[in-house]
Amino acid sequence: MTQGKKVLVCGAGGFIGHHLVRRLKLEGAWVRGVDLKFPRFSSTDADDFAVGDLREQSFVREIIDQRFDEVYQLAADMGGAGYIFTGENDAAVMHNSALINLNVLEACQKRNIKRIFYSSSACMYPEYNQRDPENPMCSEDSAYPAAPDSEYGWEKLFSERLYLAFARNLGIEARVARYHNIFGPEGSWNDGKEKAPAAICRKVAQALDGGHIEVWGDGEQTRSFLYIDECLEATIRLMRSDWTGPVNIGSEEMVTINELTDIVADIAQKSVQKNHIDGPTGVRGRNSDNRLIEEVLGWKPSQPLRHGLEKTYAWVNRQVLSNSK
Ligand code: NAD
Repeated sequence: MTQGKKVLVCGAGGFIGHHLVRRLKLEGAWVRGVDLKFPRFSSTDADDFAVGDLREQSFVREIIDQRFDEVYQLAADMGGAGYIFTGENDAAVMHNSALINLNVLEACQKRNIKRIFYSSSACMYPEYNQRDPENPMCSEDSAYPAAPDSEYGWEKLFSERLYLAFARNLGIEARVARYHNIFGPEGSWNDGKEKAPAAICRKVAQALDGGHIEVWGDGEQTRSFLYIDECLEATIRLMRSDWTGPVNIGSEEMVTINELTDIVADIAQKSVQKNHIDGPTGVRGRNSDNRLIEEVLGWKPSQPLRHGLEKTYAWVNRQVLSNSK
């Protein structure tokens, strides 16, 4: 069904966007990618790739020059806890990402493009429901009263509402996913924007057997992590479904950061001691709630966390080895 479709991927130089372009090309779509930069670790499969700034309205109008069948809007100013929870990047995160969404939506509406996917985040869920690491609540209907713990989460919430307002008033068919910690090869691993799985893989890869690695906080904060291939499958299913509300795309296999570290160390066949240090940790507990996605898309993740971590560790380990040459 993808054969012959014209698709635009905004953020195609980033982690998820790059993988998404590859997947859409395999399915036979014609794809234009847009980003501030080309993908960092391998070349893009896009038929056409425009490097430019989606904060510039004139550039956005230039690249949205035809009626695409599908637009995936993944571009955002984002990163892991070391980027979005320190407070240092708050103004940039809010201003840059909001501008991108405002510009892309307006240009799509002017071209009569209907179907637009928007990648929101679990970071929009209220902090007060995520204090108990054993029982965090992230059902889609628990979003309000809103109280995200970061400006990144507030921008996601604002932009979700923006897409839904364009759907209500202007005929846009918005599809909104709330991603929960997507990971896999070819993501940030050493540039300050890496997230826990890649950071832990890097630290374990760099550690000597029996050595120490640093873990932010006490490591008892909980999260779930979804492998990139599963994320793409759910994204495309949601995009082509009739469901119009926000939906979680994540895993329900919740682990503590200490457990995540143990799994990675086991994969690497190394014994490592955890040295807990101060660092930005985000909410105390978070897990995807997949009841709605199972009900409306008949989909749930099929692979255990360890499976994705094996592939990710192998990739990060290769980067560490080739960087140390
Ligand atoms: P990423 O940072 O790898 O990709 C985002 C891309 O957007 C980057 O390549 C960046 O250069 C591009 N971009 C930023 N500003 C731009 C601009 N002004 N003009 C053009 N391009 C610009 O992030 P990702 O992990 O691939 O995430 C994709 C989307 O999914 C983001 O919207 C993110 O907020 C959301 N999300 C991701 C996760 C996750 O775990 N990866 C979780 C929740 C939500």
